[in-house]
Amino acid sequence: MPIPYTTGVHQLAPQTFAYLQGTCATGYSNAGLVVSGDEALLVDTLYTLDQTRLMLSAIADTVPAADICWVVNTHHDGDHWWGNQLVSDAMIVSSTAAARVMRHAGPETVVPYLSPDTDPRLRAILEPFDFSGITPTYPTITFTGELELTVGARTVRVLEVGPAHTVGDVIIHVPDERVVYAGDVQVFGGHGVVHCGPIANCVRACDTILDLDPEFVVPGHGPVGGKAEVRQFRDYLELVQGHATAAHAKGQSALEAAREFDFGSVPDLAHPERVILNIGAVYREINTDGTPGPGQLLHQMVDLEENLKTQKEKVTA
Ligand SMILES: [Zn+2]
Repeated sequence: MPIPYTTGVHQLAPQTFAYLQGTCATGYSNAGLVVSGDEALLVDTLYTLDQTRLMLSAIADTVPAADICWVVNTHHDGDHWWGNQLVSDAMIVSSTAAARVMRHAGPETVVPYLSPDTDPRLRAILEPFDFSGITPTYPTITFTGELELTVGARTVRVLEVGPAHTVGDVIIHVPDERVVYAGDVQVFGGHGVVHCGPIANCVRACDTILDLDPEFVVPGHGPVGGKAEVRQFRDYLELVQGHATAAHAKGQSALEAAREFDFGSVPDLAHPERVILNIGAVYREINTDGTPGPGQLLHQMVDLEENLKTQKEKVTA
């Protein structure tokens, strides 16, 4: 039975849950919950305090006796840890690399995007969110490689797979119920984003998840899936890498390459404009001089979004 993609707590297996927000628009991420006895481990704490409060109240309704004693942050993007302060009694875990970047990845980083001077199309992405009251609350336990945590009578493994989507990605493996919480190294139903790379590591993260033979994979964004969705995402990453490498060799800009991407081969993925960020990541790997920078790509992304909408309107007119 597929897990419905609606906002709320969804049971995947006994005492093993996903918290979903029903949209893969920017800022709406997924979380996870593993319970044993009166102990619980929470995967990620969402973007705004409103989102986190809503989630914690849904969790309290579902498993009232469980005390969140562990939090694992899958990576440093704000939509996965800015709610940490609301579970600050827990031990908070991340990779050492993610924790280091979090020091410079608090809500102050969205301020430039909300300024009146910013392209209104970029501003519109973040305007719906209320970032007030967020006090960056950092991990208390960091690690490299692999870490095993005990939640009541259960064992949960945390595996470092970054640098991939970001510099310090981890995935959470729940062996007894064959569940993986993947953070943003997996996005289902939409174009995932490679901020950091190399893309080869993102592909390797897919292989690591497939090797764990999971029944359920909870992506950082999008509906819950399984191995088929991981394979599709792996194929997507390889498609982007091949296309971008060929376009770079032809001397095309990242925007030109994005316009020529074969969107028809991945018709079910939302937010096609995000492909330019991934093409840009491949270009940065090849260029080795930091270009094209993420800021420039974000501006081109909104241009591309407008182009794609106009094209679609022409086709449907
Ligand atoms: Zn995210």
